[in-house]
Amino acid sequence: MNFCSNCGAATIRRVPEGDNRPRDLCDQCGTIHYQNPKIIAGCVVLENDKVLLCKRAIEPRYGLWTLPAGFMENGETVAQAALRETWEEARATPDLDQLYVVTSIPTISQVYMLYLAFLTNGQYGSGPESLETKLFSMDEIPWDELAFHTVRDALTQLKSDLEIGTFSLHCIDRDETPISARV
Ligand SMILES: [Zn+2]
Repeated sequence: MNFCSNCGAATIRRVPEGDNRPRDLCDQCGTIHYQNPKIIAGCVVLENDKVLLCKRAIEPRYGLWTLPAGFMENGETVAQAALRETWEEARATPDLDQLYVVTSIPTISQVYMLYLAFLTNGQYGSGPESLETKLFSMDEIPWDELAFHTVRDALTQLKSDLEIGTFSLHCIDRDETPISARV
């Protein structure tokens, strides 16, 4: 940040008094511009042990498969954001179940929060950000054509949980540079 979004004056980067890390400060109006991680909310949608994936119609990772998920908006709960993204990308209105995968990616300051959800009305389709949506059995998942490591991590847990027969919350710390940052 170069200029204060509150008053327009030039900002300076330094550690505020009583803090322990550099921030963008505005000495004119006194605003401290904190930057914090972004939350990406989405759903692992199941129907009869098949998972709903979307083929991306947008960059990055155009043409690769992903779970319906996207940046949470202000004023939403995580659950609302997960369902909104699932509608926008997969035209599905599943029944939300438990929070299923939480992935921290400190290298890019993002947190993925994926809910487990069940498709009970059999309806899905393609929103504007998807070329195609499709239900995949665990044996059909296109592991080499997945858009993000976070998606692969979540599907790996799903496959394992389906084999065991119970779902549990998985918290994953992923330090590896995500696929999206390398293209
Ligand atoms: Zn200012």
